[in-house]
Amino acid sequence: MSDGRRVTVIGGGLAGSEAAWQLASRGHEVTLHEMRPVRTTPAHKTDRLAELVCSNTFKSTETTNAHGLLKAEMRLLGSVILEAADEVRVAAGSALAVDRDAFSAGVTARIAAELRINVVRGEATSLEAPCIVATGPLTSDAMAAAMRERLGVGALAFYDAIAPIIARDSIDDTIVFRGSRYGKETMEGAADDGAYLNCPMTREQYDAFLDALTTADQFHGHEFDEVPYFEGCMPVEVMAKRGRDTLRFGPLKPVGLRDPRTGRDAHAVVQLRQEDRAGRMWNIVGFQTRMRIPEQQRVLKMIPGLEQAEFLRYGSIHRNSYLNSPAALSAHLSARDDPSVLFAGQITGVEGYTESSATGLLAGINLSRILLGEEPVIPPPTTMLGALYRYMREADTKHFQPMNANFGLVDDLPQHIRDKRKKREMFAERALADMQGWIEANGVLGALAGKDA
Ligand SMILES: Cc1cc2nc3c(=O)[nH]c(=O)nc-3n(C[C@H](O)[C@H](O)[C@H](O)COP(=O)(O)OP(=O)(O)OC[C@H]3O[C@@H](n4cnc5c(N)ncnc54)[C@H](O)[C@@H]3O)c2cc1C
Repeated sequence: MSDGRRVTVIGGGLAGSEAAWQLASRGHEVTLHEMRPVRTTPAHKTDRLAELVCSNTFKSTETTNAHGLLKAEMRLLGSVILEAADEVRVAAGSALAVDRDAFSAGVTARIAAELRINVVRGEATSLEAPCIVATGPLTSDAMAAAMRERLGVGALAFYDAIAPIIARDSIDDTIVFRGSRYGKETMEGAADDGAYLNCPMTREQYDAFLDALTTADQFHGHEFDEVPYFEGCMPVEVMAKRGRDTLRFGPLKPVGLRDPRTGRDAHAVVQLRQEDRAGRMWNIVGFQTRMRIPEQQRVLKMIPGLEQAEFLRYGSIHRNSYLNSPAALSAHLSARDDPSVLFAGQITGVEGYTESSATGLLAGINLSRILLGEEPVIPPPTTMLGALYRYMREADTKHFQPMNANFGLVDDLPQHIRDKRKKREMFAERALADMQGWIEANGVLGALAGKDA
């Protein structure tokens, strides 16, 4: 086999294992670098490949759920991670939950039995083409330094302070109003009446909200999570505990945001900022939070206008290295100056086991294509995988934060459907048909070498 078919994958997590498998299945000789057990991370406990660091679930299997749809698309593409997960599934209703030890043992055994993959234990410290870097949220310091040197100092973030994202059509327009502070708008093309959605609060509403926020049940994470917060990443509930007016002088500042319905400034204002180009996903500004999910549902629905809020993503704060993909990477998530240095998994700014595995899958397919002299390909944005890639290409570079699969990302349907379940069924039907069409049009599975090739 010529050197042109030799590739390196760095990181034997979910994304790296899937990427290595896809490359080997297409006839490439893969060196897979995994630093454990020589060097470990603050969250991993074993030396196995594809270790699940926290929960044991890949979430829903129903295609009317965004994670379920992404998995259905991955199955069409031949995901080894899902094959291994299916084999060790444990009962969890419609969720794909697994026996975590048996799962990572299963992935490790598959990779070990694949003669085209050579697993090398030890920390990789440089990026050399052709390669896929999939070193995850707990990327080693030396590799983080190598990425910064290669992609630019500002390309890599270390802490992830995520505020919840709300579906636009679940926000009550009879209460919220549009507007930018003092009517100032600097972004070209923003709406004339202002960029933000503003939720005005009376003094009583603010007091009740503050009481709920400061007493809500919080998540106390892993030990390694006990890091000092940067001011800009401070959880909203920590800030609220500093004093009853701290939020009113911080992210809930009401000045310069006159409520057109009353003609007055409110006592406090919660602002939502547009997250996607289509304006279907809105981020609650400054609301990075460690509240448990049911508490986020309960407390944040007290914000006027968000009583019926549909959460597309919940808030969280944890150690997480990730690239500013829209600023630093190409459309298929490679270095801009070399299409054969690809990135995959959580390091690219996707969030979650399924999302990480899915980007590993596509990176493997694309690196194989590049090595065979073909163009990289990305599924259409009507599919969940294609929509995630679009987000990482087009998201606002100034506020880029990791994203999980959700229906706010995919192209809207041409017709208006009121019934939510029906709408999701139609999203799923279209996505799977489009994924199948894309696979056939691009010969994505045609390049498979077969086990005994
Ligand atoms: C504490 C924590 C809890 C999480 N819990 C969940 C959850 O419950 N559900 C969920 O969906 N998502 C969760 N995530 C988010 C994310 O989905 C997982 O982190 C997921 O494992 C990411 O997959 P990955 O392949 O990108 O990275 P990983 O699975 O972390 O794999 C990266 C691999 O690269 C190796 N590596 C790092 N640097 C180097 C180097 N220089 N050389 C060689 N190898 C290296 C690491 O040892 C690791 O094996 C969590 C993240 C964290 C940090």
